[in-house]
Amino acid sequence: MSNEVEIRQMWPDGPSRNYSTHRPGSSWIPLADGGYGGPYVCQSCKNDVIGIYRVENVWQCAACRRNAKFRRINGKAGQN
Ligand SMILES: [Zn+2]
Repeated sequence: MSNEVEIRQMWPDGPSRNYSTHRPGSSWIPLADGGYGGPYVCQSCKNDVIGIYRVENVWQCAACRRNAKFRRINGKAGQN
């Protein structure tokens, strides 16, 4: 029996998260359409993360979201 973890996109244009048909750990939650969902995957740093945020059509972790915000602020300052 396979107990492999794969990365699955939760819905079109949605965030990706770790997915398994068998529950690898107690922190994994049962999903409505079967299987179990684990940590999300940040689309910027590719790390497993608990919280995921949509920033300009990219699903990012809190750290990447913070970095993106700083980049925007710095970019704006640079144009002056
Ligand atoms: Zn990230």
